[in-house]
Amino acid sequence: MDDRFNPFKIAQHQLDQAAVKLGLDAATHEFLRWPMQEIVVTLPVKMDDGSTRIFHGFRVQYNTARGPAKGGIRWHPNETIDTVRALAAWMTWKTSVVDIPLGGGKGGVICNPKELSETEKERLARVYIRAIGRSLGVTKDVPAPDVYTTPQIMAWMMDEYEAIMGEKHPGVITGKPIALGGSQGRGDATARGGIYVTREAAGVMGIDLKGETMAIQGFGNAGQYAALLGQEILGLKLVAASDSRGGVYNPKGMDATALVDYKLKNGSLKGFPDAEEITNEHLLELEVTVLFPAALENAITQDNAGNLKCRISCELANGPTTPEADKILEEKGIMVLPDFLANAGGVTVSYFEQVQNAYNLYWELQEVHWRLDKKMTHAFASVYEMSRRHKVGMREAAYLVAVARVAEACKLRGWV
Ligand code: NAD
Repeated sequence: MDDRFNPFKIAQHQLDQAAVKLGLDAATHEFLRWPMQEIVVTLPVKMDDGSTRIFHGFRVQYNTARGPAKGGIRWHPNETIDTVRALAAWMTWKTSVVDIPLGGGKGGVICNPKELSETEKERLARVYIRAIGRSLGVTKDVPAPDVYTTPQIMAWMMDEYEAIMGEKHPGVITGKPIALGGSQGRGDATARGGIYVTREAAGVMGIDLKGETMAIQGFGNAGQYAALLGQEILGLKLVAASDSRGGVYNPKGMDATALVDYKLKNGSLKGFPDAEEITNEHLLELEVTVLFPAALENAITQDNAGNLKCRISCELANGPTTPEADKILEEKGIMVLPDFLANAGGVTVSYFEQVQNAYNLYWELQEVHWRLDKKMTHAFASVYEMSRRHKVGMREAAYLVAVARVAEACKLRGWV
């Protein structure tokens, strides 16, 4: 992979900049550049046709100074150990920036879930947990869903873990179905957190978002809820949305609920009534108030950053902007709400889920929303204050806040 697009190289580069600004000593800096532990597994899975297929998987526990590792499991054909490392590093900064007592981790399996039956997915989920289960636990490492993994997959994984342990451990995994100890409000938490920080950003920029426009790249879990909540909470008008098969555009606006229903029914956005087709590239360059990159890494690069015309880019996806593109967006005065701040709502409600599992006492939806709003608003304020104080962009400011907290925890433990 070209180093410019290697997510782990990008994550290390972003850390390096923060380390210099924070004046971290060499040992602390070097320690934070690498995962503390990596598990690489080979997974034999019995397929429905009687054959056995071999899959490769990973679990990276990046840093546990502030608490047990926390991070999703991604099933994707292009998964690599470097992607998982980068995502685990970003989880470390994410739990830190929202100030929850957890570290950072991430897992992945190289596979194409679209080609697997439900029974094959279940067997893959269980084999993965059999391979890495001994390294998981509420005091060690707590996984969650990510791209192409679902609450159902989390349920199988929890069940397998409990079968191995011979006792109940609902908190070993989050993003579970509510019937198995999942939290109210987890489904839309990532997008909701992004919506709260977008509201705060618009506030400091003096923008009234009601009736303003939004475009969404990536119309999966995060993107669909961003459309629904952007419309409901902020009064934004959805003018464009896309998924891996292409996008739709209507400058007059599209009803978010109708578009989500259409996508769920048809599996694609193509053919949505009263809308033109739009490419993923063109969508990013639309003149909108808020852009939500909600697909995968490296969507915004030095090749297209100069063409972006949004005022706020709320990064629901992890790593959608390369460092070169970041500089260009900063020069253009676009307010970038960096991934590990903008999409921290998911892990925050995952943390709430763990807390509820530990107490075996469950909160109402309103309480989850209220607590999430408080966490996200506070995190935005810390990052914005840091960006003003050091005259740096929001991503660098988020790194300064997050890395300083993790470095302090490492020091207090006597590790560095
Ligand atoms: P998802 O699988 O539900 O959706 C991903 C969507 O992106 C799909 O609609 C897919 O078609 C689309 N997509 C893929 N490649 C694309 C491309 N080149 N152009 C346009 N669309 C494309 O996944 P998700 O859970 O919504 O996650 C999306 C992003 O948000 C990821 O980067 C993930 O790491 C991040 N994220 C998700 C959560 C969460 O709780 N779901 C939390 C934090 C971060």
